Amino acid sequence: MNKHPTRLVRIDVDGVARWGMLDGEHVHALDGSPFSDWKRGEPLGALSGLHLLAPVLPTKIVCVGRNYPAHAAEHASEVPKEPLLFFKPPSSVIGPGAPIVLTPQSQQVEHECELAVVIGRRCKDVTPEHAWDCVLGTTCGNDVTARDLQRQDSQWTRAKGFDTFCPLGSWIVTGLAAHDVADLEVICRVNGTVRQRGRTGEMVFSPAQLIAYTSRIMTLQPGDVIMTGTPAGVSPIVDGDLVEVEIETIGTLGNPVESP
Ligand code: ZN
Repeated sequence: MNKHPTRLVRIDVDGVARWGMLDGEHVHALDGSPFSDWKRGEPLGALSGLHLLAPVLPTKIVCVGRNYPAHAAEHASEVPKEPLLFFKPPSSVIGPGAPIVLTPQSQQVEHECELAVVIGRRCKDVTPEHAWDCVLGTTCGNDVTARDLQRQDSQWTRAKGFDTFCPLGSWIVTGLAAHDVADLEVICRVNGTVRQRGRTGEMVFSPAQLIAYTSRIMTLQPGDVIMTGTPAGVSPIVDGDLVEVEIETIGTLGNPVESP
């Protein structure tokens, strides 16, 4: 695995998904797999002219609730003593630029900007000290949530699981150490206005602790995603909005919002 910080993308080339890496504003193909060995391949063109896909297709997306004290407080919830895990289905994943499609079942769909960790190798029963060895890299995630349905239900499969409710991207930044992502600013903007602003350093459980905890329950596979929770400031999104998640050092993920 390449140890220098590298931005990995997945792009649509004539209907075929291909892995690529960014070199400045240009994309080169990856010869090999990001989950084993790869080297830089042929040029595929300028980033601006390419169709970016979700940077990974996870077999599962493991999320954590109330991992930022200020977000727990805005819902009058306690910070949990252990990570509060839930799933989003792989079918909820979309890439940068793809629309978040609202549902008539909810009157209150909200954004949740989150640091997303992408697993790079099979991972079972790891310690927090070794958890980062299993990581391919990090990207921006949006844990889109039907808040009214979340309040109605005692678990959140419905509220969190609609198609398009898990934007990921725009790329995976590899080669960062755990301490490199330990205190990054995480922002959500809607139509250019900042709605959420926090720092990964506020997390109750660090990404490494979340990976270790999860790996004692279920085997994490290459490509699986851990969503690490959201800072305060979640708010509704409506048809016509543009939602952007920006994480310092990592990048930006933008998605329009559409009615069904
Ligand atoms: Zn969340």
